[in-house]
Amino acid sequence: NANLEQADNEVFSIIENELKRQTNHLEMIASENFTSPAVMQAMGSVFTNKYAEGYPYKRYYGGCEFADAVEQLAIDRACKIFGCSYANVQPHSGSQANGAVYAALLSAGDKILGMDLSHGGHLTHGSKPSFSGKNYSAFYYGVELDGRINYDKVMEIAKICQPKIIVCGASAYAREIDFKKFREIADAVGAILFADIAHIAGLVAAGEHPSPFPYADVVTTTTHKTLRGPRGGMIMTNDEEIAKKINSAIFPGLQGGPLVHVIAAKAVAFKEILDPSWKDYAKQVKANAKVLAQVLTKRGYDIVSGGTDNHLVLVSFLNKPFSGKDADAALGNAGITVNKNTVPGETRSPFITSGIRIGSPALTARGMKEKEFEIIANKICDVLDNIEDTNLHAKINKELEELASNFVIYNQSTF
Ligand code: PLP
Repeated sequence: NANLEQADNEVFSIIENELKRQTNHLEMIASENFTSPAVMQAMGSVFTNKYAEGYPYKRYYGGCEFADAVEQLAIDRACKIFGCSYANVQPHSGSQANGAVYAALLSAGDKILGMDLSHGGHLTHGSKPSFSGKNYSAFYYGVELDGRINYDKVMEIAKICQPKIIVCGASAYAREIDFKKFREIADAVGAILFADIAHIAGLVAAGEHPSPFPYADVVTTTTHKTLRGPRGGMIMTNDEEIAKKINSAIFPGLQGGPLVHVIAAKAVAFKEILDPSWKDYAKQVKANAKVLAQVLTKRGYDIVSGGTDNHLVLVSFLNKPFSGKDADAALGNAGITVNKNTVPGETRSPFITSGIRIGSPALTARGMKEKEFEIIANKICDVLDNIEDTNLHAKINKELEELASNFVIYNQSTF
C-alpha cells in the first residue's frame, strides 16, 4: 500500500501527533532543528533499500553507481563547506563518528583529555558510562565558576596527564572555542587535537564561529543540529593518513552498510548550506540567542558566562529555590521545550540540576527573529517567576501556540 495512513494508521497517527507537537510547541532544545522537506524526501527515498558497504567506487556490492554518485556529492560539498580535503559522511551518528576517531587513532587504555560532561562536554568525550570512558583512560578539564574554559588550566592538566588525544568542543558551552589555543596545548604535550563541532557546525559553516581548521587534526560533527540536516555524523580531516585510518574505523571497523538514504539527505542539506542565505540564518541564530540572554539577564536570571557567542544560553538557578528539572517541566507545560542542564558549581544531581539550556536554531529555522525571541524570553521569565502557577502556564501555552501558528514550517501536504 503506497499510503501510510491506509497501510498503518497507528504509526501514521503517532507521526501526525509528533508533527502537531513540533508545530504547536516552541522547540528550544539547543541540539534540535527543523530540516527541510527536501532533506526529508531524500531520507525517505529508495536509497534505503541499497547496500553499499565500502566507499565510492570501491564497494563490496554491485549496483552501487548511484550510491557512489550521491556519496561523492555529499563528500565534495562537505569539503567545500568546511574547507578540508577529506570527509567521511557515513557515521550513523555523532557518537559513532567520535567512536571511529578513537578507534582509528588510539589503542585501548590510551589517555584522552576531554571536557567534563557536567561542565558541558559530551558523553563521548571520556565520560565513564560511555565507551569513551570505558575503553580509554579519560581525564577532564572544565569551566571556571565564570562559565568559561581557562586555557592555562587546560594546559596544566594536559602537562600532568599527557594525553594522546585532546578533545575540544562541547554540548553546553555558550562561548567561542579557541581552537588555536587548544592547538598550542596539544603541541606542548605532543597530542592529537580532535575538535567535535557537533553543536556549532552550522555557525562554523557560515563563518559565524572560528573554524577548527587548520588547527585540529581531525574534526567530527553531527549533521542534524545547527547544520539542519538529517540525523547523522561526519568526520573531516586534512591529513591523508588520518583519513585512511578513519575510513577503516567506520567501515569495516564499527559499521556495516552506510545509510545511503541519509547520505543523500546530507548532500541535500549541504547544498542548502552552500547557498548564500545560510549566512543570514547563522547570523540570525546568534542574534536570537543574544536576545534571549539579554532579556533573561534583565529579568534577574543568571546566565552562565554572562551571555552567549553562539546558538545557546545556559541559565543557572543556583540562587533560586527551584531546580532545572522544575523549570524544564513548567516551561514544557507552557509549550516551550528546553532541557535541564548542570551548571558550574552545581549542587544538585544530574537528574535534577540547577540549570536549563535554551537554544535558538530551531525557532530561527521557522523564521522567528529578535522580536519573537523577545516575546518568548519574557514568557520564559513569566513562567520561571511563577513556577508553581499552572493556570498561568496553561494561559501562556495558548498564547505561544498562537505565536507559533504564524510560523508554519511544514505544511500538512508535505507529508
Ligand atoms: N558531540 C556533541 C558535542 C554532542 O552534543 C552530541 C549530541 O548531543 C554528540 C556528539 C553525539 O551525537 P549523536 O546524538 O548523534 O550520537
